[in-house]
Amino acid sequence: MSGNSVIYGPVPSWRLGRSFGIDLLYTEGKTCSFDCVYCQLGKTVHPLVERKEFVTLSRLAEELGRAKGIEADYITFSGVGEPTLAVNLGQAITLARSALGLPAAVLTNSSLMTREDVRRDLALADVVVAKVDAPDEETFHRINRPFIKDHWNEITQAIKLFREQYKGKLALQMMFIDANKQCAGEMAIIAERLSPDEVQINTPLRPCAVPPLSPEVMHSIMEKFSGLKNVVTVYEAPRPEVTPIDRKETLRRRPGGDIYPG
Ligand code: SF4
Repeated sequence: MSGNSVIYGPVPSWRLGRSFGIDLLYTEGKTCSFDCVYCQLGKTVHPLVERKEFVTLSRLAEELGRAKGIEADYITFSGVGEPTLAVNLGQAITLARSALGLPAAVLTNSSLMTREDVRRDLALADVVVAKVDAPDEETFHRINRPFIKDHWNEITQAIKLFREQYKGKLALQMMFIDANKQCAGEMAIIAERLSPDEVQINTPLRPCAVPPLSPEVMHSIMEKFSGLKNVVTVYEAPRPEVTPIDRKETLRRRPGGDIYPG
């Protein structure tokens, strides 16, 4: 792993503008608590459900020193897997925000939000984008293929609890594919119950094992969400122009395109 960087980008994000990435997992293959059928990073090489330290804060501080003055809209914690698996996520958010003077966002698959320490770390971010792809346990297992023992309803309850305590911007990301396109109405009800600041309706446009839904199907899914405010969709969002500081490190986290899956 030596030679790889923890930082990458900036990348153009349809959700976050110019997004400067931090990958606290820093592993060669994907480290995740899920193995989503649509994941653009391929199979989960390192299934993990417990938090641990992958990157020291001193290593992160050293790399952030190279990025001083970077032009970006957000520091985004994502990368090759699930960022809340990094036990020092909260300290890393505080460190990166103060080093670069930018707001921080975390893209999470929500699976560890049942843990109080994870909710506390996430609460330090300015934006949290939490994944909800299913309206029930069976669909959850079919699409996200979790390694964690927690059930779908425990995870959605944890998101609700986080919402009640969190003062920042909470966005829900809902990925639609063939396996859940018929669940859009139920998903809209769940979104309403969780009271996010924004709902991001997605379909996998980057190369992966599952084809994206057409703009027409996505449009009919959007109609189910018409009762909610601030619903955005991947087909309609603009993307900013950016130049990554290290193209190789960026492509390792964003193969084939510009929309993070997790
Ligand atoms: S899409 Fe995100 S949550 Fe799902 S397996 Fe890939 S990295 Fe993990």
